[in-house]
Amino acid sequence: MMKKILITAAYSKDKHLQKNLFEIISEISRLTPDNPITVLLLGHHINHLKEEFIHRGIDRLILAEHPLLENFTCEAYTHVIGEILKEYPADILFFNSDFQGQAIASRLAGRLDVGLAANITALEFDAQGDIHLIRPSFGENKMAKLKFLTHPQIITIQEGTFDVMPLPKKNCEVINFYPKLAAEDFPTKILAIVEDIQKNNQIEDADVLVAGGRGIGHAKGFLLLQELAHLLHGEIAGSRAAVDLNWIPFSKQVGQTGKIVHPSIYIAVGISGAMQHLAGMRKSKTIIAINKNPYAPIFQIADYGIVGEYETIIPQLIQKLKENQ
Ligand SMILES: Cc1cc2nc3c(=O)[nH]c(=O)nc-3n(C[C@H](O)[C@H](O)[C@H](O)COP(=O)(O)OP(=O)(O)OC[C@H]3O[C@@H](n4cnc5c(N)ncnc54)[C@H](O)[C@@H]3O)c2cc1C
Repeated sequence: MMKKILITAAYSKDKHLQKNLFEIISEISRLTPDNPITVLLLGHHINHLKEEFIHRGIDRLILAEHPLLENFTCEAYTHVIGEILKEYPADILFFNSDFQGQAIASRLAGRLDVGLAANITALEFDAQGDIHLIRPSFGENKMAKLKFLTHPQIITIQEGTFDVMPLPKKNCEVINFYPKLAAEDFPTKILAIVEDIQKNNQIEDADVLVAGGRGIGHAKGFLLLQELAHLLHGEIAGSRAAVDLNWIPFSKQVGQTGKIVHPSIYIAVGISGAMQHLAGMRKSKTIIAINKNPYAPIFQIADYGIVGEYETIIPQLIQKLKENQ
């Protein structure tokens, strides 16, 4: 049975379109080319974006415009999506798995009293056209296959989960939606936007990543990784264990609940290679693992492995790189 798909994205000032919009469109077009796809963009002054979508494999583009949508607030965005669903019902709703998408998806699921599948890593459609979702669950070594019992079905997906493929040309209907919103209807007011001083150091864009885990032992150990990353023109990243220990900020966490990265070189230092970490870096072109435990699972996916204490290995690498500069 045909399913109406709705993929939602926010477009606020200074923000690029989420890359995974086209990743999700690609995957759905590949799996079920006949399901009609609608993309919903929320923001202000977004009419120019329609050019990006007209021939990009979607059937309908809804541009929801309002000054109050210029910057993200969960209440206003969820309210508008709810209004749009009344006019343009959908069976399956996709959101990016960033903090905005997760906030909207969970709030919407609560309002509609339906289920939500978060951070899924694969999709399947069965012969009846029903969607099945795969995601890591129950600790480290199990993949769960999920099926919804409620309707509509709400799903969040991390950027980098699927590849962008050439998309079929379709005639795309463009709808401008002007919601009625008043600032006093929403409890959150944006007082100021503070620029992220690290925005140029995003790990998703780095060609080389030097990632540290619990095996680094202390926050100062990351200075050594930083020096190596600097010599390789790369960035540092970390496992969730390193983030939980406050050795590195969450914005640099790689994995299922962090970022999905695919640099040319990924150097995993003192990282055991848990499934949730691998989910974020397995698409790296070359993986180098440094670990004192020769049986650490990270060596199973590494192209090159160095067994030993990072405190002795990294200074040697730094020394060699400096000699060759
Ligand atoms: C729902 C869920 C989501 C999760 N999401 C994520 C996620 O997004 N990202 C993520 O990373 N994890 C995630 N995790 C956690 C994950 O399961 C692991 O616990 C975590 O990745 C382990 O981090 P680690 O490899 O740094 O630490 P450990 O598993 O403790 O490994 C430390 C490694 O360091 C090595 N080592 C120790 N000392 C040295 C030394 N001196 N030199 C060299 N090697 C040394 C050890 O041999 C060991 O292999 C998630 C877990 C759950 C349940």
